[in-house]
This record gives sequence, C-alpha cells and structure tokens, in this order.
Amino acid sequence: MAKRDYYEVLGVSKTATDEEIKKAYRKLAMKYHPDRNPGDKASEESFKEAKEAYEMLSDGDKRGAYDRYGHAGVDPSAGGAGMGGQAGFADAFGDIFGEIFGAAGRQRGGGGPQMYRGADLKYAMEITLEQAANGFDTEIRVPSWDRCDVCEGSGAKPGTDPKTCSTCGGAGAVRMQQGFFSVQQTCPTCHGTGKVIPEPCTACDGVGKVRRTKTLQVKVPAGIDDGMRIRSSGNGEPGVNGGPPGDLYVEIHLKKHGIFTRDGDDLHCELPIPFTTAALGGELEVPTLGGKGSITIPEGTQSGKTFRLRSKGIKGVRSNYPGDLYCHVVIETPVKLTDRQKKLLQEFATSVDEGGGKHSPQSKSWTDRVKEFFS
Ligand SMILES: [Zn+2]
Ligand SMILES: [Zn+2]
Repeated sequence: MAKRDYYEVLGVSKTATDEEIKKAYRKLAMKYHPDRNPGDKASEESFKEAKEAYEMLSDGDKRGAYDRYGHAGVDPSAGGAGMGGQAGFADAFGDIFGEIFGAAGRQRGGGGPQMYRGADLKYAMEITLEQAANGFDTEIRVPSWDRCDVCEGSGAKPGTDPKTCSTCGGAGAVRMQQGFFSVQQTCPTCHGTGKVIPEPCTACDGVGKVRRTKTLQVKVPAGIDDGMRIRSSGNGEPGVNGGPPGDLYVEIHLKKHGIFTRDGDDLHCELPIPFTTAALGGELEVPTLGGKGSITIPEGTQSGKTFRLRSKGIKGVRSNYPGDLYCHVVIETPVKLTDRQKKLLQEFATSVDEGGGKHSPQSKSWTDRVKEFFS
C-alpha cells in the first residue's frame, strides 16, 4: 500500500507551523481515537496514520529529512515508537493528549477487559532456632480459590450467559472526568471483568470461584534466618480475566531462644560462672545446638571474657562453613551468704589486702588513678 503524504494525512500545508500541525493532529486523534471507536479497524488505521505523520512532522530533524527525501528519508520503524503495536496509543497520550485523555493510558488499545496478575500472599511462619539450624519439612494450610464446578467458572447460573458490561462496553475500565483531567478507572459496574452476570450462579454468588483451603508442602532449608522468605510460585491469589496467579511467600520469624542469640551464622550466649571458678579455674560444660560442649576456664578469668567454640554456630543457607559460638563470661557474685561463709570471705579479704593489691591488679590500678585524680 502506497504511503500517503504526511502533510496530506494531517490536512495541513507544507509550510504549516508546529502549532498548526499539533492542532491538526489533535483533531484527527480525537476523531479516530480507538477509545471512541471501539472495534473500528478503519478508525484505528487512521489514528495510526495520523500519529505517525505527527511524530515525523513535529520533530524538526525528521521533518527536514522528510521534506528533502520523502518517505525514504524517514523510517518510522527506526524510531522505536511502536507504531504498529498497541503501545503506540499509550505513547500518544503521553505526548500531547495527557491533558485530555489522562496520563494513565491503556495497556491494551484493542478493547477487552484488562488482565491482572493475582496478588501475592504472605504467610508468616514462626520457627525455633533448632528448626532454622537443621531445616525441616512441613505443611501449611493457605486460603485459595478453586473454579466453581456448578457454573464452570463463568459465574452465570447454568443455562444463562454473562453479558458484555454496558457501562464500559466490555473494556473493563472507564474514564472519569476530574476537573481538567480524566482518569482511567476500573469499571465500577463489572469491576474490570468487562462482563456482567444477569443471573448469578447460586453456588459461587456469581464469582465463578469458591474459597477453599489448600495444603502446601514447604521445605524450610537448613540455615534459614529471621526475615527470609520462601517463595511458592503460583500459589498466591488467582489472576483476573486470565491473568497469571500471584506467588505465596512464607516469611520466617525466629522465636526467641532461651540460651542463644543469633547473629548471621554465629551464635552468642552468656556464660554465668561462680567467682570461685573464675578465680581458681575449671572445666565447664556449655550447651551447643549440636549437644554438650566444654570450655576450660583458666585461673583468674575476668568478667566479659569471651570464649569461642569454632564451628558450633549455624551453617547459613548460602554458607560453606558453619559459624562459631561465642560464650561471654559473666562472673556471679555470691548471694544469701551464711554467717560462716561471710566470715570465711572476710578472712579471705584480709589475706588479699596483705598482698598489697597484687591479687586485684585492676582494682589497684583504678584506686591509684583515682588518688592521683584528687591530689
Ligand atoms: Zn458458580
Ligand atoms: Zn464494565
């Protein structure tokens, strides 16, 4: 098909100003816009033709090339404007019709209801630190929709048919005028489906689907951490008008543990020890996720000292090696002493004093520094 001259298409002279070109295009686009002529192929063609002409003539460089070389000088397909595709319509709104038709545009210029992907679902799962460390398989029950057997998903009473929505003409969306702007909204009558059901199916109230609960197998991988999510593809809400379903996300929440706190692959715990053990040293049993471990407490261990047990942490989901376990020493001062115990400690204190501070070097140095400070 021979291409019409761009000036002819817009009905302007070769000397037309940019303003005149814009005005001419506006008029044609209003007339032939697919929203105003649903299903009319000839109008759609005219619209595309006008749009192409406008795109060429409104661009100074392209117009110059066209004036000199004709259609050979400009190749509309090179512009990537999506001339032949539906996307071109939305572009046209963006160009100059934003203020008339609204900036939202249509995703599907050819009419028919909009397809929507179903919403994602989130499922919160509380697990213990042990479960997180080792991984486990479990089942969860999630709400889901199944096609209604009675109406076979149509939503219409058996023997009747859904009708095209008269509010939106089956497009699923309507334009609302708001002051200067027009906004595209989901059709309030058909809620975007493009269809209305005169006699709804009684089994599903015309929805075409029924709520069920489905059971899903979930594999929680070893090493999973708080806040991580496991995706179950396609197990979210079903799509609308044939759109794909959403996904289901299982979000992991770690329960507080009685002994350990987790920091990535490492574990930490407090290790209260009697002051006598701290002073004299000894062997101490400590808990680890894998069972019992032990630590040798050297003589004269101070509060705050940290012992590291290599590889007694957690092997993370993406880690090659397990982390470590850190035990933080807290020295416990004895309480509820008997008179005899107090006496023993007083004797002990006297004996320590005779040592002139060598038994408590930190206290000694502190006392010295305080003295210095006041003198
Ligand atoms: Zn039904
Ligand atoms: Zn509608």
